[in-house]
Amino acid sequence: MNSPGDQIDLAEPHMRENLAMAGLDVDYVRATGNTLYYLGEDGEQIPVTDFAGGYGALLLGHNHRRITEHAIALLTADTPVLAQFSRHTAAIRTAAKLNEIVQRELGTGERFYAVFASTGAEAIEAALKHAELDRAARVAALSSGIAASVEAARAAVAGGSAALSPDVEHFDDLARHVAEHNARVSARPPKYLALTGSFHGKLVASVQLTHNEEVRSAFAPLAAQAVFVPFNEPGALAKLVEQSRETLLDLVVQDGRVEIVEREYPVFGAFLLEPIQGEGGIHEVSAEFAAEIRQVCDAIGCPLVVDEIQSGMGRTGSFLASADLGLHGDYYTLAKSLGGGLAKVSVLLVRESRYRQEFELVHSSTFAKDGFSSAIALKVLELLEADDGRIYRQARERGERLKSMLTGLGAEFPTVVKQVRGRGLMLGLELHDQSDSEAALLRDFARAHILGYVLSGFLLRRHRLRTFPTASAVNTLRFAPSAEVSDAEIAQLETGLRELCTILRDQDEQALFS
Ligand code: PMP
Repeated sequence: MNSPGDQIDLAEPHMRENLAMAGLDVDYVRATGNTLYYLGEDGEQIPVTDFAGGYGALLLGHNHRRITEHAIALLTADTPVLAQFSRHTAAIRTAAKLNEIVQRELGTGERFYAVFASTGAEAIEAALKHAELDRAARVAALSSGIAASVEAARAAVAGGSAALSPDVEHFDDLARHVAEHNARVSARPPKYLALTGSFHGKLVASVQLTHNEEVRSAFAPLAAQAVFVPFNEPGALAKLVEQSRETLLDLVVQDGRVEIVEREYPVFGAFLLEPIQGEGGIHEVSAEFAAEIRQVCDAIGCPLVVDEIQSGMGRTGSFLASADLGLHGDYYTLAKSLGGGLAKVSVLLVRESRYRQEFELVHSSTFAKDGFSSAIALKVLELLEADDGRIYRQARERGERLKSMLTGLGAEFPTVVKQVRGRGLMLGLELHDQSDSEAALLRDFARAHILGYVLSGFLLRRHRLRTFPTASAVNTLRFAPSAEVSDAEIAQLETGLRELCTILRDQDEQALFS
């Protein structure tokens, strides 16, 4: 359990041991742009080109000069970092800037209110809580409408202007039946809609919306469950919604008779959607499927939460990847690159027409809206928007360059590369499964779902390249470098991947582990 330097490792040592097995437990000592450095045996700094990009949090690269200079200036000026329950000017300005950008991308004049948090999963949890507050308010309005109408029916029966149907003796029996049914339905926890392959975080509520069973199922008793909709499958959503349909009962007087009528009950708290799934293996939602989701959500009054935590902030060439699909969400979540690689900051944006201001009184966090993170986020937004959106154009152009290299390798090694997917600088290279390989080690690692990490270890040790498999689809290697990724860095990746593909094509496990 000891880590280098004989310091006992008590910080999740089991994970480090796993990393060590794959040759990935490197101690990085410096980072700039697309490069991380570790110390060699003689104390020299060895550069590693970083295509993992902080799991998508480094669109501007490690320690971007303008951001570190801004951070130093903030600290030198003794900027208040934690001054809870005050005006929070930096957060106000960041929310305004986010509105300017998001409204432009969506072509809407509607405002979005911002709830700040520190991590991606925390923003998702805030979205789920806000959606539940909204759903509960809609249930309360529905219930009080029903209560009023039941009382009106009772008065009509008592006054002789309405009759009961022949099979009902007393109005109270009918009212009790209605009340008991409604209490039973209303007591059930909400459900959520998400897509197969989705990843929305690993906290108590958000992990239930992350499709990967390995990380989800042990915690199922802790939170409301998701109904997973087959990815990009037309018609599947409408069917699942119909199967989950619930109604409350109401009593109304029609043609002088008391009748039971059904009222649609809001079963679903929210629909969560990544426009491009990241951890699920880099899969893009089709524009047709996005339109179908929007239409079903509108039909059942369910808020659509567009999770742009990985795909947003310009990574795919637009501030919001979903805007390119023509999709309009009710909520948006952003994190990762919002912190510029330095701050931990995330945000939930809620469309004004769906915003519940009472949420502000029941939700808070010590670190939310802190002066440092908010000011860094504002600087990041300014950098993204500078020069008429140069970074967005660069992400698109660099992404096309990187993707065409990967696609070329795919054509060169069709028995090794299954598919290249993604947009901008959110790319994935799916390798064919090696679970039936003749080579024993390749087969065993593939069956244990760790081959992708072993391949990452090879690229790191032999080619000084950093990439990892996507979390829930371990045959897909991810590429999410900064917008400054150079032709030379792409060429370095090509060399490394070509050797890796050759090894896999020739099933030469000796070469992989030598
Ligand atoms: N949503 C998406 C789409 C993500 O990619 C991630 C992180 N990979 C999260 C949510 C969770 O973010 P965090 O790790 O900051 O909690």
